[in-house]
Amino acid sequence: MKTSSYTGRFAPSPTGLLHAGSLVAALASWLDARAHQGRWLVRIEDVDAPRCIPGAGQAILRQLATCQLLPDEEPAWQSRRGALYARALAQLERAGLAYPCSCTRKDIASWHAARGHAPVRGQALPYPGLCRPERGGPRAQAPCAWRLHTLRCEQKAPAEPNARAFMVNGVLHWHDRRLGAQQQSVSDAVGDFILRRADGLWAYQLAVVVDDAAQGITHVVRGADLADNTPRQILLQSALGAPTPLYLHTPLVLAANGEKLSKQNHAAPLDLSSPMRALNAAAQALGLPAHNTDDADSIPGALAAWVRAWRQMDWAAT
Ligand code: GLU
Repeated sequence: MKTSSYTGRFAPSPTGLLHAGSLVAALASWLDARAHQGRWLVRIEDVDAPRCIPGAGQAILRQLATCQLLPDEEPAWQSRRGALYARALAQLERAGLAYPCSCTRKDIASWHAARGHAPVRGQALPYPGLCRPERGGPRAQAPCAWRLHTLRCEQKAPAEPNARAFMVNGVLHWHDRRLGAQQQSVSDAVGDFILRRADGLWAYQLAVVVDDAAQGITHVVRGADLADNTPRQILLQSALGAPTPLYLHTPLVLAANGEKLSKQNHAAPLDLSSPMRALNAAAQALGLPAHNTDDADSIPGALAAWVRAWRQMDWAAT
């Protein structure tokens, strides 16, 4: 399974410390990189400055180091990469694929309410393109966000932008190594999503796509809670002419009450009084055998055994 050019990454947002669920994603991406004899990078996704907790990025790096999950390069910090994001947005604007929008959440909600639309399964209602240039541009004199013109992107996307994703009648098709064949019309399901917020902050979707491309990421391994971002990211890749990585979304770790473990649900920070115990729990969540020890000295051996076990997993071959 040696892949000569494999680059993977773990990309935590420092809005809190790692919890048990984030360690599963970190371990899975590390194991996948090691199983492919590839590189493993860490990127601290601190673009949403108001939500970031001072010191959390460094603390996350220490948590990873305590678990002996060490990146192959100096970690990248998104807050230092604004120039790259600005360049990508300018490229999209020049291609007519991004436009300024003055709509507030309230404007969008009233537009849908007037038409009797109700959100489905807790999903936000799609942005209906009210400020698209062909509709006259921003509707108000107000600070503008920038949005991706998803319909134009879908029309422009080649039927087979690359072997990993393709467009059929505006519907994007892609493959997830665990979840299998996936499809979505981004313009219908999500609408023109935000690239830069009206307050000037870069949106996660743009930053992640620009960075995955700039860092040459070939394999994205992350938690299933992020799976529904993938079609937006692939559409953006095709708009920017960036390659599409392979995606693997790992099973979610649920709390005892059945809720997903996340910072929003106030998941407790990882208990690293015994890193081996924390790693054992993460490995078990991935279906890997636990190592019957709490001894930190056995971490390298346990990690090596999990790399071997990972190679036998259904999703490993792809
Ligand atoms: N920064 C994102 C998060 O912590 C993950 C980004 C990604 O893996 O694509 O939820």
